Amino acid sequence: MNPLQYFQLKLTERKYKTLDSFIPFTLTEQVEYQPYNEVENRIQKFKCYTEIGKDASGKYGMYLVELGNKAKPKIMILSCLHGTEWQSTQFSLKFMEQLENDTFPDHKFRQYILSQFHILFIPVANPWGYNHTTPLSRYKGRKNANKVNLNRDFYDFTQEESQHIKKVIDKYKPFFYLDCHLMAPRKDGGQNYQDMIVGNVDHESDLYRDFIAKSLSVYANREVEQWNQHNNREHNGLSRRYLFNKPNPFTPNSFPFILELYRPVKNKDGIVAYLTDQEIYQFGIGAMYLFFKSAIHYYLTNNKKKIK
Ligand SMILES: [Zn+2]
Repeated sequence: MNPLQYFQLKLTERKYKTLDSFIPFTLTEQVEYQPYNEVENRIQKFKCYTEIGKDASGKYGMYLVELGNKAKPKIMILSCLHGTEWQSTQFSLKFMEQLENDTFPDHKFRQYILSQFHILFIPVANPWGYNHTTPLSRYKGRKNANKVNLNRDFYDFTQEESQHIKKVIDKYKPFFYLDCHLMAPRKDGGQNYQDMIVGNVDHESDLYRDFIAKSLSVYANREVEQWNQHNNREHNGLSRRYLFNKPNPFTPNSFPFILELYRPVKNKDGIVAYLTDQEIYQFGIGAMYLFFKSAIHYYLTNNKKKIK
């Protein structure tokens, strides 16, 4: 039995209907780079946003956007820890704008998630990198102003960016966490690699990792690799590793995930793009939707109140 069949069986047994459809919509827009001040303008249109501090350069504000019911269990999304991966900001911001404006294609889902959960969203974790990259850059803007790879700084917390994000995690204690990334095509013929990756940290969340990966694969008609990250260690400083094993008031475990999509880059020989800008938009939003569906399912089957 493959993980997806197992998951469906579990759903039937438990009579939960929250995950019975995969991604019941098609999306036609695409990701497009815009300067950080334009992203800030979009952030400042949300009903609830806060500046959580400045980045390491001291020049850029970092923001937390909140949606949903503040009294309810917390789900967190982080985008653009690497500035070169600006596409993650574009699709996740659009996802949240659609939730807030009630233009998200699944209205029932939107209504449910906003009434039953509290969403914490950091659209740009590395604003300096975001504003210093170029749309097809391989390396420029990946790190922050101090040339630190922020996704190795969640153990020592030497940088303002990771410190601000840590404060949000520590304060709200989300039970589900998604870190959105994109990877550059590899120079050695990346066509043979998978087009997308979903990774987790803990065996106990394998079911959800596999559900997201398999459903995304069906939706996109492309390969999605499942990363086994069980051995990655705390001192590696990965943002998702920081959340692992952190207790939360809502569920028995806190489950972090990472999403990786291929992004286009310009090399000496020209542009290499395994996914189009439209596919990045579509699969990014699709993956987020599956992540939220998984969070709902995990909460409904494992919330602490129910267990008592
Ligand atoms: Zn990345």
